[in-house]
Amino acid sequence: MKALEDKSDVRDTETLLCHLGRAPAEHAGMANVPIYRGSTIVSETLEEWDIRNKDNPSYGRFGTPLSRALEAAICKLEGGYRSILFPSGQSACTHSLLACLKAGDAVLISDGVYAPVRAFAENVLARLQIKVEYFCPTEPSELAAKINANTRAIYLESPSSMTFEVQDVPALAAIAHRSDVLVIMDNTWATPLYFKPFEHGVDISIQAATKYIVGHSDALLGVATANEAAWHGLKSTAHHFGEIGGPDDIYLALRGLRTLGLRMKCHWENGLILAQNLQTHPAVDRVLHPALPNDPGHLIWKRDFLGASGLFGIVLKPMSRPQLSVLFSSLRLFGIGLSWGGYESLALLVEPPKRMEGSLQLPGPLLRIHAGMESPTELIADMHGALNAACEAAADSIVPPETSEVVSQCQIVS
Ligand SMILES: *Cc1c(COP(=O)(O)O)cnc(C)c1O
Repeated sequence: MKALEDKSDVRDTETLLCHLGRAPAEHAGMANVPIYRGSTIVSETLEEWDIRNKDNPSYGRFGTPLSRALEAAICKLEGGYRSILFPSGQSACTHSLLACLKAGDAVLISDGVYAPVRAFAENVLARLQIKVEYFCPTEPSELAAKINANTRAIYLESPSSMTFEVQDVPALAAIAHRSDVLVIMDNTWATPLYFKPFEHGVDISIQAATKYIVGHSDALLGVATANEAAWHGLKSTAHHFGEIGGPDDIYLALRGLRTLGLRMKCHWENGLILAQNLQTHPAVDRVLHPALPNDPGHLIWKRDFLGASGLFGIVLKPMSRPQLSVLFSSLRLFGIGLSWGGYESLALLVEPPKRMEGSLQLPGPLLRIHAGMESPTELIADMHGALNAACEAAADSIVPPETSEVVSQCQIVS
C-alpha cells in the first residue's frame, strides 16, 4: 500500500478514515501501525543521530511512529497544520491555553465552557496573573466589548457541553483576529468530521479523543491541532511540560478512528430521534439539541456544522429528588456516568453551570443525555418508561409534598 500522500485525489472522509495514519511498508506489512513502547531510541552513527534529532522522534517523549500516525490523521481531518497528543482531553485544553498566555495577559472564555476548564482558569491561570473573563456564548457583541489591549486569546466550545448553545465561530473569530487575538476552540462535540474548525477561523482546535475518537470508553487521550502561526507555541509548550499519551491509549484511538464515520452517523440519528421524541413527553420542559429546528442555535448549526453528535440536554419540569431517584433507577439501558462518546447510552443529572453573565431560569432539573448505538426504539421506550415512573411516583405521593425537596430554582446564567 502506498503512503496516503501519494493519493492526493483521496478526499472523501470515509476513504480518509480507512487510510490515514497507516504505513504497512514501514511496519513489516502490518495493516495497522503497531504499538511502540520506548523511551530510548538508539542510533548507530553520529550522522544517524543528527538526522533523528532533526526530523524524527529521538526520544520516547517526543513521539513514536504510532503517535505521529495518529497526529497526522487527526490533523488532516481537522484541516490544520500540525497536531500534538496529550494524555487527556483536559490536558489538551489546559496546555493550549498555556501556549497562548503569559503573566499580565487576559483571556476571554465562553461562558458555557466545560467546567474543569473553568476551574483550571480560575485556579491556575489566575495564580499565574492571567486575567480570566467570560463572555456570553451567543453574544458576539459582548466579546467585542470585552477585548482590550491585554487580551491574547479567546476560548470557545460549540455547542457548550451542558447547555448546548451554538456559537457563531466565524463572527467571534473575526472579532478576535481584528485585535490579533488567538482563537482556541474545543471541538469535541462535533468531532473533526462534523465541524471544520480551520475553515471557520480557529487557530487551535482541541479534541477530547477520549470521547468519540476512542469511541469505546476504554482510554483517555487529548489532541490539539494548530494552524501554522500557532503551532510553534503549542508544540514547545507541550514539550516543556513533558506531555505525552500512553502507547496503548494512542493505539486504541487510532483504531477507534477507523469507525468514527459510521459511529457518528448512528449517534447523530439516535440522538435526534430521541431528542424529537422527548419533546413530546409531559415531564419535559425543553430539549437542548441544535439539530432541532426550534433550537435557538439551529440556524448557525445548519450553516456551519456537517452533522450532530449524540450528546444533548433535556430540561425537566420541576421534579423532586425522590422522583429523580425513581427516574434514574428505572433506566435499564442508560448508565449514569461521566464522559460520553462511547457506544453506550448515558444519562447524567448535571449541576446547572455557574455562570457570570445574565441569567436563564431553568424550571426543573437538567439532564445530559448521550445517545449510544442501541436500537433507537428501545432507547425511547427506556427513557419514556423512566420518565413515566418518575411522574407516577409523584402521583402516588410517595413523598409528602412538604418534605419533598423541589428542584425548581436551578439558576443558570447565559
Ligand atoms: C470530556 C471533555 C474534555 C476532557 O476530556 P478528558 O479526556 O476527560 O480529560 C474536554 N472537553 C470536553 C467538551 C469534554 O466533554
